[in-house]
Amino acid sequence: MSLLKIESLVARHGLLPAVQGISLDIEQGETLALVGANGAGKTTLLRTVAGVHPVSGGRIVFDGEDISSMPAHRRAAAGLALVPEGRRLFPAMTVEENLLVARSAKREGRWNLATVLDAFPQLVPKLKAAAGTLSGGQQQAVAIGRALMTNPRVLLLDEVSLGLSPLAVQGVYDSLRALMGMGREQGTTVVLVEQDLKRTFQVADRIVCLLEGRVVASGRTDEMTREQVMDCYFGHRTTASQDAALSIATP
Ligand code: ATP
Repeated sequence: MSLLKIESLVARHGLLPAVQGISLDIEQGETLALVGANGAGKTTLLRTVAGVHPVSGGRIVFDGEDISSMPAHRRAAAGLALVPEGRRLFPAMTVEENLLVARSAKREGRWNLATVLDAFPQLVPKLKAAAGTLSGGQQQAVAIGRALMTNPRVLLLDEVSLGLSPLAVQGVYDSLRALMGMGREQGTTVVLVEQDLKRTFQVADRIVCLLEGRVVASGRTDEMTREQVMDCYFGHRTTASQDAALSIATP
């Protein structure tokens, strides 16, 4: 059974249907990447799954339970954690306080202050510093660490590398790879939005390409090429031989 099942999901901004009937099955321990051009609906999809944007149609089933109308705080308590685009830390609070604030939604599990600091050692010397004084990469590490502190079963990561230097991106992904690579049983299930395709291919098990709120292609990372994904970005159809490896949606 899928850990997270998205069925014919529709989400709107006013009259605009940003997510137009998306269905996805996400397995325990899997890392799934959502890719697509600006405005494809990736952020809206993540926010709708996390419960901070309303469902207009279809449903979201998490661990066998329909959570479509469950409020965001209850989804967090059930094990869905969103790291939003732009990080949204409490800038005047220390790094330690930003991490500990997540305790209210805490579930039992391996993540606590010590294990988060093991995963993000760059935060150790910054624990007592105000979060707002940290570099972009360090702030992103705090945002991911804060989500991990809840011991999520599914981590929803929205463009974690946005605005970071290449070195900072490398640091964040080195830590993420450690938690993604813990195997199917123990591993955190991750759904991520990432604009950097090279990095997407490095970390994801599966890629789902969105265009105008719909899934236009999906496939295992080892069965897709960068060119196939780029084609989907721009709305091009792939060739029949490429279709064999990819699952291409027919409009
Ligand atoms: P990006 O990479 O630019 O963040 P995205 O794939 O995440 O793009 P969304 O941000 O989900 O896409 O946007 C999907 C559609 O919804 C776009 O047409 C966008 O203009 C629209 N949209 C997003 N946020 C809002 C909002 N707050 N109000 C109105 N329309 C919105």
